[in-house]
Amino acid sequence: MPKIFIISGPSRSGKNAIIDGLLNKQELNLERAITATTRQPRNKEVQGRDYYFFSHDEFKKRIKQGYFLEWAILRGNEYFGTPALEIDRIKNKGKNIIWTIDVQGAEQIRKQLKSQTVFIFVKPASLDDLKSRMQKAWFNSREVKIRLDDAKREFKEARKYDYVVVNREGKLNEAVEEAAGIIKKEISDKSK
Ligand code: 5GP
Repeated sequence: MPKIFIISGPSRSGKNAIIDGLLNKQELNLERAITATTRQPRNKEVQGRDYYFFSHDEFKKRIKQGYFLEWAILRGNEYFGTPALEIDRIKNKGKNIIWTIDVQGAEQIRKQLKSQTVFIFVKPASLDDLKSRMQKAWFNSREVKIRLDDAKREFKEARKYDYVVVNREGKLNEAVEEAAGIIKKEISDKSK
C-alpha cells in the first residue's frame, strides 16, 4: 500500500529542496504530486511541472466540481489545492506520494487520510535565518513581512506533525538524510 508524505513548513524553509533530494533516492519510490494554484508563475516555473496554474474562475469552478482533495486560500487571495486525481494517478503506479502543503491543507488531509499519511514539518533553526533567506530571495520588504507573520503562525502548528526536521543553514544534505531516514522507517513499517 503506497504511503503519503506531506511536507509543510514556512516559505524559504527549504521544503522543496528537501523534496528534490528525496526524489533522487530511488529506493524511496517517491513521486511528487503536482498541485494547483491561482498565483502567477514565478521565475522559471512551468505549467504542469511546478504547478497547474489556474485562473480564479477556473479554480472556483473546480472546487464546486469536487476536483480537489483539499484546498486553501493563502496570503489573502491565492488559492492552492491538491487535485484528487493526481493522488490516484501516483497511487495506481504503486509509488509513495510526496508533496508540500500548507498547515490548513494538512489539517484537511489529517481528517481524511490520516492512517496512510505521514506528516513532516520542516523548519529553519530560527526566524532570523528565515528572514535572511527571504531577503536573499526575490521578496521585497512587504512580502518578507507577510511571510514571516505566516511563519510565526505555522510554527505553532508544528506540534501536530509526526516529525519535525530542522533545515540548518548550509546543512541541506543533513536535512535530506534525516527526512530520508524517516521515510525509510515509515515505508518498512508494515504494521501501519
Ligand atoms: P509557493 O507560493 O511558495 O509555491 O507556495 C506557497 C504555499 O502553498 C506553500 O506553503 C506550499 O506548501 C503551499 N501549497 C502548495 N501546494 C498546495 C496545495 O495543493 N494545497 C495547499 N493547501 N497548500 C499548498
